[in-house]
Amino acid sequence: MKTVEIREAFLDFFEKQQHTRVASSSLVPANDPTLLFTNAGMNQFKDTFLGNDPRPYVRATSSQRCVRAGGKHNDLENVGYTARHHTFFEMLGNFSFGDYFKKEAIQFAWNFLTGTLALPPERLWVTCHVSDDEAEEIWVNEIGFPRERISRLEEDNFWQMGDTGPCGPCSEIFYDHGPEVPGGPPGSPDDDLDRYIEIWNLVFMQYNRDADGNMNPLPAPSVDTGMGLERIAAVMQHVHSNYEIDLFQTLIQAAAGLLDAADLENKSLRVIADHIRSCAFLVADGVLPGNEGRGYVLRRIIRRAIRHGNKLGASEPFFYKLVAPLAGEMGAAYPELVKLQPQIEKALLTEEEQFAKTLDKGMLILEEALDGLGGEEIPGDVVFKLYDTYGFPVDLTNDIARERGLRLDMAGYDAAMAEQRSRSQEGGSFKVDYNDILKLDGHTEFTGYDSTHGEGTVTALLQDGK
Ligand code: ATP
Ligand code: MG
Ligand code: MG
Ligand code: MG
Repeated sequence: MKTVEIREAFLDFFEKQQHTRVASSSLVPANDPTLLFTNAGMNQFKDTFLGNDPRPYVRATSSQRCVRAGGKHNDLENVGYTARHHTFFEMLGNFSFGDYFKKEAIQFAWNFLTGTLALPPERLWVTCHVSDDEAEEIWVNEIGFPRERISRLEEDNFWQMGDTGPCGPCSEIFYDHGPEVPGGPPGSPDDDLDRYIEIWNLVFMQYNRDADGNMNPLPAPSVDTGMGLERIAAVMQHVHSNYEIDLFQTLIQAAAGLLDAADLENKSLRVIADHIRSCAFLVADGVLPGNEGRGYVLRRIIRRAIRHGNKLGASEPFFYKLVAPLAGEMGAAYPELVKLQPQIEKALLTEEEQFAKTLDKGMLILEEALDGLGGEEIPGDVVFKLYDTYGFPVDLTNDIARERGLRLDMAGYDAAMAEQRSRSQEGGSFKVDYNDILKLDGHTEFTGYDSTHGEGTVTALLQDGK
C-alpha cells in the first residue's frame, strides 16, 4: 500500500464508524501560547476536550501535519539517528469527545490493524499504564491479546501535550520488525533501538493539568489517538526504516540527483529529505526564517539541511529545488504546497544564499580548531564565534561535533556570550541570545511569540524582495 492509500484507508475506516473527517490544522497553533508547533492530532481539539469548544460532532478523525522540533516533544536530534523519527510527520488520529472510551478505542485500533491492514497479530506488542488494569483486561478479555506481550510502563504510558493541558494514561501498540533488527521489546533496557517500533498511541484523556501541576478531571472521559503515517507505511511496505517508504524514496532520490550522491542510504540524504518537509510546510503555514521563536527554529532546520548538502559536496543552492518533488508527492493532500511552491522556494533560496556567504568560512574555522584540538570538546569561544560571526546555530555545530564523537564546551560558550553581552550593553545595544531561548537539550521553553520577528506572511516576503 502506498502512503497516500494508507492515509485514505484510515480516514475512511473511521468515517464508517461515525467519525467526522476534519482537515489538518496549521503547524502554527491557533491561540495557544503554550505550544511552539502543532505536535499532535489532538492540538486543534484541545478546547473541545476541556469542554470549552463544543463541536457539532462527538467523534472525529484526521491526518494532522505535525512538527516536533522544539517544545515538549522535540525530535530534531533524533533525525538521522533513528529509523522512526522525523521533524515533520503526519499523525493519523481518531477522537472521542465524551463519547466512547477505552474499550471501543482499543477495538477500533485492533480492527483497523489486523482487519483493514491485515497485519499479523503475532508481530504486535502492547503497553498499558502501570495503574491501568482496566486497559490490560480489555486487551486480554475483549481482544484475546496474549498477556505475555503486554508491558506495564509508567512515564511512556502517560501522555501530555505540554506542561499543561489535557492528558491521561495511554495504551500503545508496537510492531516487531524482526530479529534481524537490534532492540528489545517495550520496557526492556534496549527498547529505544528500532526493532519494536511504537506505531499507535491510544490516549485515554481524563485530566487537565493546570499551571500548578494539579490534575483536574475533564468534563467527560475522552479518547485521543495518534499513529505515525510514515511508521505504519514502513510496516505496510515491508521496510524497516521510515526513510525506505515510497514518499521518502522519492525525496531521497531527488536529493541524490541534485547532489550527485550515489549511496541512497547516506545519512545526510535522509536528514535533507526529512528537513525539506518541515521547512516547506512551515513556510506554507506562514513561518519565515528569522532570529526568534518559530522563525529561529525554522532557520536552524534549514541551515542543518544546507550543512548536510555541503557535506555531500553541494557547490550551489540545492535545498529549494526539493520543493517541487515534495509538492509532487504531497500536493494532492496539501494543495497549498502546490499553490505556494514559488513562495516556499523563494524563502528557502533566500536563506540558502544568505548562509552560503558564511558557511564555507565557518567550516574552515571549525576544521582549523579541530586540527588543533587536544581533548574531546570544541572550545566555547569557537562555538560562539561560529554562532555570532558565521551564523552557525549552536545545535548545528553540535550536529557536526556529534558526527565526530566530540562535545561542545557549553560553559565556555555561555561565558563568551556573557562577555559579548556586557560589551554591547556598554555600547548601548543589546543582542538577544537566541540559544538561551532555544536550549540545546530539548527542554525548550517557549515564552510567547512576537509576530513582528521571525515570522510574517510569505506574501510579505515576496513584496520585500528579501
Ligand atoms: P517515540 O517514543 O517513538 O518517540 P512518542 O511516544 O514520542 O514516539 P507520541 O507522542 O505517542 O509519540 O505520538 C503518537 C504517534 O506519532 C507515535 O506512536 C508515532 O507513531 C508517531 N510519532 C511520534 N513522534 C514521531 C516522529 N518524530 N516522527 C514520526 N512519527 C512520530
Ligand atoms: Mg517521542
Ligand atoms: Mg513513545
Ligand atoms: Mg507514544
